[in-house]
Amino acid sequence: MNLKIREQAQEIFNKISEIFLLYLLQVAAKRSLKSLQKDTVNAVSVQQKLLRNILKLQKDTEYSKKYNLAAIGSVAEFQRIHPLTTYENYREIIEDIAKSGNFSQLVAEPIILFQETSGTTGKSKLIPRTKRLLSTSQKSFQAINAIARSYYLNGKAYAKNSLGLALASAQPLKSTPSGIPRGSGTSGGIRQSKLFQKIVSLNFSSPISIFLIPDYRSAYYCHMLFALLEPKLTYITANFASNVLDALQILEREWSQIINDIYHGQINSNLELDTATRNELQNRLKPNPEKSNTLRTEFEKGFEGIIPRIWPQLSNIQCIITGSLQLYKESLKFYAGEIPIYSHGYGASEAWIGCNLEPQKDSPAYVITPHSAFFEFIPISQIDAEKPTTVDLTSLEVGESYELVVTTVAGLYRYRMGDIVKCVGYYNQSPMIEFLYRQGSLLNISGVKISENEIFAAITEACKIWGDDCKIIDYTTSIDVSSFPLSYIIYLEVSKIFTILPDLTSFQDKFEQIIYDLNVLYLNTRKANIIGAPEIKLVERDSFKMFKNQMISQGTSEAQFKMPRLLKNVEQINFIESKSLN
Ligand code: AMP
Repeated sequence: MNLKIREQAQEIFNKISEIFLLYLLQVAAKRSLKSLQKDTVNAVSVQQKLLRNILKLQKDTEYSKKYNLAAIGSVAEFQRIHPLTTYENYREIIEDIAKSGNFSQLVAEPIILFQETSGTTGKSKLIPRTKRLLSTSQKSFQAINAIARSYYLNGKAYAKNSLGLALASAQPLKSTPSGIPRGSGTSGGIRQSKLFQKIVSLNFSSPISIFLIPDYRSAYYCHMLFALLEPKLTYITANFASNVLDALQILEREWSQIINDIYHGQINSNLELDTATRNELQNRLKPNPEKSNTLRTEFEKGFEGIIPRIWPQLSNIQCIITGSLQLYKESLKFYAGEIPIYSHGYGASEAWIGCNLEPQKDSPAYVITPHSAFFEFIPISQIDAEKPTTVDLTSLEVGESYELVVTTVAGLYRYRMGDIVKCVGYYNQSPMIEFLYRQGSLLNISGVKISENEIFAAITEACKIWGDDCKIIDYTTSIDVSSFPLSYIIYLEVSKIFTILPDLTSFQDKFEQIIYDLNVLYLNTRKANIIGAPEIKLVERDSFKMFKNQMISQGTSEAQFKMPRLLKNVEQINFIESKSLN
């Protein structure tokens, strides 16, 4: 066979393998969805079986022996023998495993990654990831994919002509003294998963090398550049609304440079790229003046509703817009126009929690996935009790709120997640939940609690005194420990640019009025002068962007970053305080 024929044969073979793999991925996604739906029908038995399997799997670990977990015969016995835990119950063991590598203290399988959590509401944690833990999350990802395709793309198959834009950048993984990789779950997912890398090459507009660019701004620039060259882009996916917003803001700021790159087929020399990545990306670019000019026309019209104008076939944006991410929904809608936003899932480094199986709903709710962890729920009234009782996943009352507790396949038992959720219904036997807030972001002076949702509602309403077009860009809070009585400080960045600092008293009055309506206890304690008046501080433009970049430069991953809504760390408080305008 001469060389040319051999090359052609290879090309045909590659094409067929690609089509076959796309077909397999589609079958796997549909199967995962079916299996997940079936799990919700038999949620109780799936949960009981999962707990039995976990106890059996880990039976030879030192941790299991300590509680004699292998001998446990029922859920009730498990709950009697094993106390509720927090990360502090595992910190020492985990630090020891990180040093010694002796994972069998806690888990039967090797730890493939120590996931560094963002540390948004406290000290950073190392959460063990095993292959089994990863595969439970993968089932949920696949189910989400099947839902999104059937709902937004009429079941259109995976194919080269229905590419997505996935927004993520993976920092290089570090390693513990014993050589176990450590890094964010997202970075590990990208760098360690051959499956992800294969999926990227078949499904997304960016080559894998873009996902591996450590500097997220350069990565997002390149994601945008390659996505703009893909007129048939059908969806955008990211962890959080803030990731999509970051990318769109980079596009808004740097579009003229990006279209210049497209015009000349030349990649921007200012990007932080290593030589190999730059060369690889450069080789993929060809000068495209026509595309560049069409894009320029759209960008020059402004960025409101830009997404459907530059990607006319885009059908949905998949990213989380609940909890602390709800703040970014409006800003995202500015760019997205009529394109629906699908708040797809609810997951954590510890375990996958739930999937949104009903994208059509206005208020996203997540169906607890019974295969992914053994779930218990602490009723909100019991959260501060010394020994709270828990209920199982079929005993939640609709309308009630609970703290989530998980027992995972990777060594956490009856572990309090600190997430507060509300049951809004059932999907077969599985509860559907709305995410409310993180316990660690709850403002609490003298036992009077104000949730993140209440603060958000109050600042959103109060902001209207500066005009309907004045939007909150970001915010955080802290407790003024120097004041007597103690009081809150609310740091706010708003879209309106003031030449003279506005009167903040009327904002504060409106803000408090709303909190009073929502929270009678706060009203009473304020009137009794047990809590002082809150102080509102406007901060300079881009303060929160700088805050975020600082946290990322200290090791937090962009893909998992969530703005802390209650600052406790002195360095962070000092930083935001230094940006205050009043
Ligand atoms: P991490 O382990 O750093 O990925 O953070 C996980 C945490 O992110 C969860 O415990 C939640 O507090 C938050 N989170 C994850 N999914 C959602 C969601 N759909 N809505 C609101 N918050 C979420």
